[in-house]
Amino acid sequence: MSVVSPTGERERTSSQGTMRAAVFEGPDRIVLAERPIPGCGPNEAIVKVSMTTICGTDVHILRGEYPVAPGRIVGHEPVGVIHELGSAVEGYSLGQRVLVGAITPCGTCFYCQHHVSAQCAGHEEQWEMIGGWRLGNSADGVQADFFRVPYAQANLAPIPDDLTDEQCLMLADIASTGISAAETANVGIGDTVAVFAQGPIGLCATAGARLKGASLIVGVDAIEGRLRLSREMGADEVIDFTQEDPVAALKRLTGGRGVDVAIEALGKQETFQWCIEATRPGGTVSSLGVYGGKLEIPVEPFVYGIGDKRILTTLCPGGKERMRTLMEMVRHGRLDLSPLITHRFGLDDIEAAYELFANQRDGVVKVAITP
Ligand SMILES: [Zn+2]
Ligand SMILES: [Zn+2]
Repeated sequence: MSVVSPTGERERTSSQGTMRAAVFEGPDRIVLAERPIPGCGPNEAIVKVSMTTICGTDVHILRGEYPVAPGRIVGHEPVGVIHELGSAVEGYSLGQRVLVGAITPCGTCFYCQHHVSAQCAGHEEQWEMIGGWRLGNSADGVQADFFRVPYAQANLAPIPDDLTDEQCLMLADIASTGISAAETANVGIGDTVAVFAQGPIGLCATAGARLKGASLIVGVDAIEGRLRLSREMGADEVIDFTQEDPVAALKRLTGGRGVDVAIEALGKQETFQWCIEATRPGGTVSSLGVYGGKLEIPVEPFVYGIGDKRILTTLCPGGKERMRTLMEMVRHGRLDLSPLITHRFGLDDIEAAYELFANQRDGVVKVAITP
């Protein structure tokens, strides 16, 4: 069966009826709506969602700051069970628990083969930047009872029996993204690392710096609860930037030089600038933030472009092997992100969850949503 979806594209839909889904209708309107259960193509899978969450990026979508088509089902962080498998997908069984990354690369295109899965061009006719981010962006997402997994063979990561859904929920996006900042910067054993902003992604970047062997990790934020979590995730020192100049404090902590690596995990001009200023000559700024508007590089702290400073950016590594390795880190006690889940909602209450999360009420860090 085929119907024209509200986004105007022809979608395969299943004959199995309808489901609940969080749909972006326009700025400031993400509503719970009834939508057809998606149908499954030969290279796809349908996953029944067991648990999902809301990302800061979904809030950008809600506010109209990041464009997605009206009618799009949002969400890109799913844990679930396989409900239907495409005829070409091998090695899985119905009912199997799986984690699917926020980025669902095809595994075979130019970008996937160059190890930048987030920029995957897929087999689609039109190439787009950050094309590997399909769920809840260029395709329907996962804040629903069911969702369709594109390129399922590359993206279904079986969950080991000894891991709970909640232990895996933070891995789809924020852990993969946050940890990648330390990986991209190639943090070495003994390096000094500052992480600007200790939201969910920044906290994972702090955990990533610890995993990579940094000697001194400094978390920067202004919210007390987040600075406490920062220590829990691996920070040795924390800086409340409303109480002291973070750049001066970081220089003081590093013998006047500045840090080897500064991670930007907020997406603001001010924090980006602090990162450049706080990095020693020859150091690295590793940027995760999603910047709105124009981003300027200040000349002096960049030593007029000849300070050997590097600025690197990462989106979010995806694919089943990335998810498998992250699950192994949790399983063997190297990574525990459960303290980040502060609130729990049913899917029926997702609008209230958005209200809480978007306005950062009640000390929320991440919410778990269970259909
Ligand atoms: Zn996200
Ligand atoms: Zn690809």
